[in-house]
Amino acid sequence: MYVIKGKSVFGAIARGVLTFYRRDEFVVNKIKVGDPQLEYKKYTDARDAALTELGELYERALSSIGEKDAQIFVIHQMIMTDDQYEGQIKDLILEQHFNADYAVACTARSFTKMLGEMDSEYMQARTMDVKDVSSRLLRHILNCAGNMPVLKGNSILCTGDLMPSETVLMDKSKITAFCTRTGSVNSHTAILAKTMNIPALVNVGGALTEELDGMDAILDGYSGTLYIQPDEATIRMIDGKEAVEGRKKELLHRLRGRRNITRDGHEIKVYANVGNLNEVQNAIENDSGGIGLFRSEFMYFDRTEFPNEELQFYNYRRVLEDMKGKEVVLAAFDIGADKRPDYLNTEYERNPAMGYRAIRVCLEQKDMFKTQLRAMYRASVYGRLSILLPMIIDVSELRRVKEIIHEVKEELISEGKPFSENVKLGVMIETPAAVMTSDILAKEADFFNIGTNDLEQFTLALDRQNSRYEQICPEHHLAVLRMIKIVCDNAHANGIEVGICGELGGDLSLTETFLELHVDMLSVTPSQVLPLRRTIRSISLSDRRQIHANLQKMLKY
Ligand code: PEP
Ligand code: MG
Repeated sequence: MYVIKGKSVFGAIARGVLTFYRRDEFVVNKIKVGDPQLEYKKYTDARDAALTELGELYERALSSIGEKDAQIFVIHQMIMTDDQYEGQIKDLILEQHFNADYAVACTARSFTKMLGEMDSEYMQARTMDVKDVSSRLLRHILNCAGNMPVLKGNSILCTGDLMPSETVLMDKSKITAFCTRTGSVNSHTAILAKTMNIPALVNVGGALTEELDGMDAILDGYSGTLYIQPDEATIRMIDGKEAVEGRKKELLHRLRGRRNITRDGHEIKVYANVGNLNEVQNAIENDSGGIGLFRSEFMYFDRTEFPNEELQFYNYRRVLEDMKGKEVVLAAFDIGADKRPDYLNTEYERNPAMGYRAIRVCLEQKDMFKTQLRAMYRASVYGRLSILLPMIIDVSELRRVKEIIHEVKEELISEGKPFSENVKLGVMIETPAAVMTSDILAKEADFFNIGTNDLEQFTLALDRQNSRYEQICPEHHLAVLRMIKIVCDNAHANGIEVGICGELGGDLSLTETFLELHVDMLSVTPSQVLPLRRTIRSISLSDRRQIHANLQKMLKY
């Protein structure tokens, strides 16, 4: 038996077979071929198919995001047919008699090396394009539909790190758990795994080698341990643990239908964070008071083009109907950074987390945003809708969104399409800029939701994808707690509510502090709703003087 430790993302136990996944890494062998002409034809067929594919992607991008961004596919076509690039491949196949996939992989390597060594940042950035183009060619040569692994079922998916789009696209019916070498607990992949009720272990390190592929394992999400080829005693220990945890869950379920109220009568809303319709059911089963954050972008990762209005309308309407009049906070598309669906088509950015993302994409790609807003407003008559704007840094962005909403409403009126007049518009407070201007924002927003995941990353200058620095940072950094207080005070002084929808909202060691700060709503993954309710019901806040003293101690002011 081997034992590997990592950081657990979701407390549960999973059994399965370790299945390794490597992104965009094709198995390319170096082979001398007997018929170079035939091999060259294999290459040219693959190239023609890839060029057609790029042409289609260009057409789609043109209508959804416009000429400027669609150009990337034209550039990729140009790279693919570049004389030097093609010349080297041709030479390797026809003159040196190597196989087509090796010729492409070898050419890609020498081109990326050459570009990477250039002084110009622009040329360096093109290395990504050469890699992308070469991967596309390789996929066609090797006949791989995509790079998703073929899963047998009962797989514990192991990899270096996962991108959110990959996590969403994996066939979850066949995955019992995720296990990644790197990655942090606040990464979107971790959040997704938790929301989907899939046990996951991140940051397990280099011990997770591919030699373990195909081995039976148990992932214990309670202790953050992966047991590979577990012995009898471990299996018995895990069975016992599962039985105990099962009983605890039963007890928790008895809290369904109860209020989120402290022993001395302070009530707080507990909502759920979700990203698709299944998770809405999960929220309902866990007796969530509403949806505090619907990450709308997660529903449309598996698409190559931006979802149209009808599809979005259908989905938003379903969420609102399923929630039967309970509040649903739909966030505007928060794409960019680590969330990059195919249709985003952005140029390479050195630091995408601080680049073209979220509200910036919405405001620049106004047609796309209007489509989403139209779908949201049309759905608004089917329930209680609030709209949340991610990554706001300035009140001018909020004002521009209001202008677009005004246009959307005018259009819907002229088309005779009904919408609710009671849709609230909130700001996600997830940048220090939004915190420090929250007094201004609070005068023009209907509510705040604090996104602590991004707020922590930008306040502490700690990349949320990077697990390496997590340990150097105090768990509850004073700067972030103080920021939460600033936001709460500014919200309440202006008569609006404030919630927390980042992962910190589910941190039970902070629940008392959040209650003392009069946070109005905590939005957590569905499976955390009842544990949070249990904690709230066990707290007694005592008198105002004591609360003040507690906060003074906690926030050191
Ligand atoms: C956040 O940043 O805290 C948040 C809730 O949004 P996301 O995790 O999707 O960035
Ligand atoms: Mg965020």
